[in-house]
This record gives sequence, C-alpha cells and structure tokens, in this order.
Amino acid sequence: MASQYRNVCDVTVPNGLCVGCGICAGICPEGALNIAWNYYGEYAPVELAGKCTECGLCLQVCPFVNQQENETTLAKREFSNQDGIHHNSVVGLFLDLFAGYSKVDNHRIRGAGGGLATWLLEKLLTQDIVDRICCVVPSNDPNILFRYSVVDSVDDVRSASCSAYYPVELSQTISEILNVDGRYAVIGLPCALKGLRMAMLRSVDLRKRIVVLVGLVCGQQKSKFFAEYLCAMGGGCPSKVKAVSFRVKDPSRHHLDHRFEFTCVSGDGVVTGHVYQSQGMSWLWGHDCFKLNACNFCDDITAEVADVTFGDSVAEPYSYGNMGANFVIVRSGLIRDLLVSGASAGEIVLDRVPLKAIITRQQGVILLKRKDLQHRLYLVSHKHNASYIPVKRFPPRRRLNPLRNLDMQVRDRMRDVSRETYAQHRYQPNVGLLVQKAIIHVLETFAYRNWRFNFFFGIVCFTKSVRHWLSSLMCRLRKFV
Ligand SMILES: Cc1cc2nc3c(=O)[nH]c(=O)nc-3n(C[C@H](O)[C@H](O)[C@H](O)COP(=O)(O)OP(=O)(O)OC[C@H]3O[C@@H](n4cnc5c(N)ncnc54)[C@H](O)[C@@H]3O)c2cc1C
Repeated sequence: MASQYRNVCDVTVPNGLCVGCGICAGICPEGALNIAWNYYGEYAPVELAGKCTECGLCLQVCPFVNQQENETTLAKREFSNQDGIHHNSVVGLFLDLFAGYSKVDNHRIRGAGGGLATWLLEKLLTQDIVDRICCVVPSNDPNILFRYSVVDSVDDVRSASCSAYYPVELSQTISEILNVDGRYAVIGLPCALKGLRMAMLRSVDLRKRIVVLVGLVCGQQKSKFFAEYLCAMGGGCPSKVKAVSFRVKDPSRHHLDHRFEFTCVSGDGVVTGHVYQSQGMSWLWGHDCFKLNACNFCDDITAEVADVTFGDSVAEPYSYGNMGANFVIVRSGLIRDLLVSGASAGEIVLDRVPLKAIITRQQGVILLKRKDLQHRLYLVSHKHNASYIPVKRFPPRRRLNPLRNLDMQVRDRMRDVSRETYAQHRYQPNVGLLVQKAIIHVLETFAYRNWRFNFFFGIVCFTKSVRHWLSSLMCRLRKFV
C-alpha cells in the first residue's frame, strides 16, 4: 500500500490523517521533510523542494499509513516472550496493573495525575538505566508553548511534569538521538510511540539507544488553538499568550476539576487568568472541539507498544483522595521491579488493581476508539469518492444505534466548526465570542435544543437501521434456502 506514494505528504497529510508526530521528518535521511504549523494550528510535514528521493522510509514509520505492522504486532515483538504476560483488547499486553501516586516532593500536586510518570522518569536517570530523557517541557516561545526536549537532570524532568494538551513533535528529538550516543527514555502518546517503534525497526541506532518507552493513555490530542481559545474564554488575549498550564490542581476542589492557567504578556503588562474544567473546559474536551482528525482514526487507548503506560483516572477505591492518582499498565519486568522497590522504599503508593477498575473508568475513550472508530470506518469505506481507507485493527462496522451516531455527528460538526471559525478569526480581538457563537449555532440547529430534529432524525435513523437489519437477515436466510 505504502509504495504507491512518494512520501507522507502524498497520503497522510492530504487525507487529514497526519497527527503531526514528526517521526517522518526526524528519520528522513535527506532531511526532505520539515514539520510546521498548518493554518489550523496543527503540526504537519512539509516537503522541501527537490530533496525527496522517494526512499519510502517516512511511509514505513508513519503511524497512520496502512501497513503490515500495527500496535498488536509491534507489542508482541517486544513483550510476548515474558513470563506471565496477559492480553486484553483494551489495554493490550500487560504484565501487571497498578494504581497509586508518588509521595516524593511535589510530584503529585504538580503532576497531571498522581505524578508517577515523573517519579519513574527520575528513577530511570538516578538508577543509571538511561542517560537522557525525552519529555515535553513548557517553552517560552509564544508560537510553540510546549516542545519535546532531551534532558539529563532530575530538576529538568520535574519541570516537564503535567500534561500538555498541545501539539508536540519529535523530529528534532530523533535527530538528537541519532547524533548523540547514549541510552534514552522517551515519553509519549500512543501514536508517537507506535511511530517510534516502527522507526526503531528501521534504524539500528534508534533501536540501540532508546531503551525505555513510557506511554500515556490518550483520549484525543488538540490543536494549538485549544490553548488559545481557553485563554480567550478566561479573558486573555490569545495572540499574546506566553505560558499555559492545563491541569493546575486546586486542593479545595475535586481533583478532576483542575484549571487551565495562562499568562499573557503585552505592552500593557502581564495578564494572568484561569478557566476551571467545570467552567466549560471539559465540555469543549468532550465535544471534540479542536480535536485532531487523526485521533478519530486511532485504535490505541493505552500506548500498547510502551514498556509502561500511565493513565489518570481509576475507579474507586483507587483515587486516594483529592489530589490525583495514576493507573499503571506494566509490560516490562524491569519497570515492574522499579515500581515495586519504590513502593517498598515508601517513595510511592502502589496497589495492584483488577483490570475491571481500569476499564470501567475508560468507557468514554473505549467508545471513541472502538465503536465510533468502527462506524467511522464504515462511513469512509462506503463513500463513493473515498481516496484512502485507513486499515485498523477493528474492522468497519455500521452502528445501528441512531442516537450514538447522531452524537458522533454533532461532535464531528463541533470539531469542524471550532477549527474553521478559530482559524478564520484568529487575530480578531473577539475571537472567543465568535467561536462560542458558532458552537451554539451548531447545537441549536443540529441537536440537543431542537427536539423536533432529534425526534425525527431518531425515527429516520431507526427506520434505516431496521431496514438494514432486515435486509441482512433476508440475505442470510436466502443462503440457507
Ligand atoms: C493529550 C493527552 C490526552 C490524555 N488522555 C487521557 C485519557 O483520556 N485518560 C487518561 O486516563 N489519561 C490521559 N492522559 C494521560 C494523563 O493526562 C497523564 O499524563 C498520565 O496519567 C500521567 O500522569 P502523571 O501525573 O503520572 O504524569 P506527570 O508526572 O505529570 O508527568 C507527565 C509527563 O508526560 C509528559 N507529557 C505531557 N504532555 C505530553 C504530550 N502531549 N506528549 C507527550 N508527553 C507528554 C511530560 O513530559 C511529563 O514527563 C492524556 C495525556 C495527554 C497528554
């Protein structure tokens, strides 16, 4: 499949499937690809004229190009020979499942969840398992608020803690790993780590130097406009935003009601502000505003190719109070030993959890990355002019529940409208208001408030579903007659 294209700019980018991970640009031997912001505040590769030799390497490492390897085959190659390894369709291969939090310094209060990811990254350095960590740090560049950085001190790892719902890319990081010998750990989202594993199959140096992959559970990633829009919601000026933090915990509130904080710097001085999850942030998140389209075609919830994966919400009784906790999916014996000895030393709290406790809290993401995905694939594969049909581990399947399909349609519309409206009015002072109006318009005309629409649309979908179901039943019956 891959060979009919010159490079990723012919397939992933034009089909809206590029997640902007930057692996293609980092691995390209000719330096023919450059990762840049597109009009919508998303990263995408741009081809530099006359440099591409059509070697196809970028296509082989792209997590969204159809190919032989997928998360299951990559994970099996790494972990299947370990004693006691199990498999589950949501979490992939796993050796052990834990919940807990870090008791070290400010890990927990500063962390997105329980701070265990930061604790582990620090441990990898201090126990001399790796020399450098590739993690995501805030940068002071207003055009790139977060970026991957290669760090080698505990203080730097600590400065990277917390989640960045902001595009980050690995092209420079890969070049650095290829240029500087040493042992590296990389933390990343499922798509980036899948690309990295595929790059490690093709590059001996990457394979030798990257010794640990630390994964994050991922529901979706956002464009850079998500941060700018939240800033506008909080009364700041998006074009002057200098720094943001997505998950500042407030001890007086529930740990899931964290806040987005921003600092804007202009000639008039410094303006700071915040927006709580409960003040619209989680609504925007849940309605897919500013979501990357590639995330609609991802079937990996728990970074199945990583040696260990951290998530941040576990069902009771594993939330351990108000300050955040993690669940941990361990796939490597080395990482399990580190965690268990950290717990014995009293540095972290760690309890074994049943798989059910993890799956119960991830129902929302499971819906997006399984049922929604399969219905989406069904829709794409039935499009007359479909130029590229993503091949995923879960086959196209028409969903017969009209309400779920309507919900998905509304979220898709929200994504398109937020993305387009923000891009069009980005530099206008009232951009926040314009996006808000556009979103409300979608809601009013499309669903929720319009009960007639809901009612009739529901009936139409239901009738169609029954017809479809009856015709497939008749087909099956005919085979027997
Ligand atoms: C876009 C995104 C979506 C997520 N969706 C979910 C979800 O649906 N359900 C769920 O349970 N958990 C989700 N997570 C993971 C969760 O938010 C926490 O990151 C995870 O539980 C680790 O928490 P911690 O307190 O141990 O991490 P911390 O100790 O705070 O450390 C966080 C580490 O993550 C790295 N990091 C932050 N942002 C990024 C990024 N964008 N790309 C790569 N590395 C990054 C930092 O470098 C830091 O080292 C998501 C994370 C991200 C970035």
